[in-house]
Amino acid sequence: MTSTAHANHAETQRQLTVSCPATGDTVGSVPVHSSTDVVATATRLRAAQPRWAALGVNDRAKWLGRWRDWIFDHSDELLTLVQLESGKSWGDANIEILAGTQTINYWSDNAAKFLADQSVRPSGLANIAKKVVVSYHPHELVGVITPWNYPLAMPLLDIPAALMAGCAVLSKPSEVTPLAWQRAVQGWKDIGAPNVLDLVTGAGDTGAAVVDAVDMVMFTGSVVTGRRIGVRAAERLIPCSLELGGKDAMIVCADADLDRAVDGATWGGFFNAGQTCISVERIYVEAPAYDTFVNKLVERANALRQGMDRSRDYSVDVGAMATEQQLYTVAAHVQDAVSKGAKVLAGGTAADEGLFYRPTVLVDVDHSMACMREETFGPTLPVMKVRNAQHAVELANDSIYGLSGSVWTSDKAKGMALARQMNAGAVNINNVFMNVFQFPAPMAGWSESGIGARNGGASGIRKYCKTKSIVADRVSPKKELFWYPYTPRKGRVQSLAARLLGAKDWRRRFNRRNLMSTRETSAQ
Ligand code: ADP
Repeated sequence: MTSTAHANHAETQRQLTVSCPATGDTVGSVPVHSSTDVVATATRLRAAQPRWAALGVNDRAKWLGRWRDWIFDHSDELLTLVQLESGKSWGDANIEILAGTQTINYWSDNAAKFLADQSVRPSGLANIAKKVVVSYHPHELVGVITPWNYPLAMPLLDIPAALMAGCAVLSKPSEVTPLAWQRAVQGWKDIGAPNVLDLVTGAGDTGAAVVDAVDMVMFTGSVVTGRRIGVRAAERLIPCSLELGGKDAMIVCADADLDRAVDGATWGGFFNAGQTCISVERIYVEAPAYDTFVNKLVERANALRQGMDRSRDYSVDVGAMATEQQLYTVAAHVQDAVSKGAKVLAGGTAADEGLFYRPTVLVDVDHSMACMREETFGPTLPVMKVRNAQHAVELANDSIYGLSGSVWTSDKAKGMALARQMNAGAVNINNVFMNVFQFPAPMAGWSESGIGARNGGASGIRKYCKTKSIVADRVSPKKELFWYPYTPRKGRVQSLAARLLGAKDWRRRFNRRNLMSTRETSAQ
């Protein structure tokens, strides 16, 4: 994600107006919630949470199922709001329903298994007579703070797991795109669901008030804001999970299916106008395939249709940038690259009207350029020729980010080997983005791309819980060896026990001095 931008909305008194980046039209407004408002909402949610937790997994799943149905029934209305506030194409918007509802189903279907008490085998002989159970207890109130790139999908990627864990959720959508999410939360209320999900609207101050009011924070957004939230969470001693920016590298080997690789690059780089944390941000192509790859990529980029179509029209591919600031960042990266010797082979300009930037292909780029090092978050694909895949890995790993990446080759073993060498939380082989939909696998950022992970099977819902380890004695002796009073004899028996149980060789197990003194003591 990139820095906060405020171009398509303006704060007047306590209202925030939202406008469409494609047309400039005002499309709605939401209140700016103060910290007092945030505390009031948090208090209401907290009051309802114990009953929600007590409902149990199956009944919670029923509510989420009804909400999923409501989302399907209102998908056109929701996606229209998504489009109006973000300026994206209908095709880009459409995927938000798919992502959101799949997430609801996964956590509803699997929460019972993931949250059940876990009986764990005690470790070591000394604990053989213990019964050990780990149980999961929801954080009462989870804050979910989201950016503007997927107004609906982004909150829906995280909130269902938190709700299924039994938490109440206080969400804070981006000030740039609050409308679709506001409607979705209204949907939760309209179906009569318990009062455990709400939103507050506003900018950074409202977000900061959320961090101060909750017991755990799930944040998606820029590194700058993520760091701020991490610091505040540390001060409050609450856990946080941060999904931040990326500079995902795509490595194309000469043996790859180049048509597929080019199509993957085109969609992976231009989907959502490049405003995806895991979008393809830079491409490294092995020398023998470079010319063919670039020619095909330019052809595909030039064929893309740009604009904002409407409901189920699918007449354009690439939509607008969500904010003027974002458009400026993209233009600045292209300008910087060109000033340092890069060539623009497609796009490279903004449209005259609306916040559109043309799908852009850059070549003759290197790592001195912002477009190869900083998150562009826009429809640009800088392509670099590399000697071989090893060279590509070195360049891919020359980054402060480590969110994800992709490798393209027809050699399966080579694909796996290269994937293992990339410093990233996820690598897709011969595809892009697909890791996000593998709910059993974690989506984690390395380096400055974040802390913690979303999804990841059991760990993806247990992160919204506190753990409790219950340890019971199956047989209780009158006294434990460790208890008072300490005596030399008990001390020696303890030392002997430590050696017998812990040492891995006979000499240390039966250390003579230790044994003798124990025998002496026993003879007394
Ligand atoms: P972007 O510019 O990509 O939206 P940001 O990280 O600036 O990325 O914003 C992501 C979300 O974080 C937004 O909902 C924003 O209002 C919120 N936010 C901004 N500053 C803070 C803060 N200090 N504390 C909590 N949330 C914040």
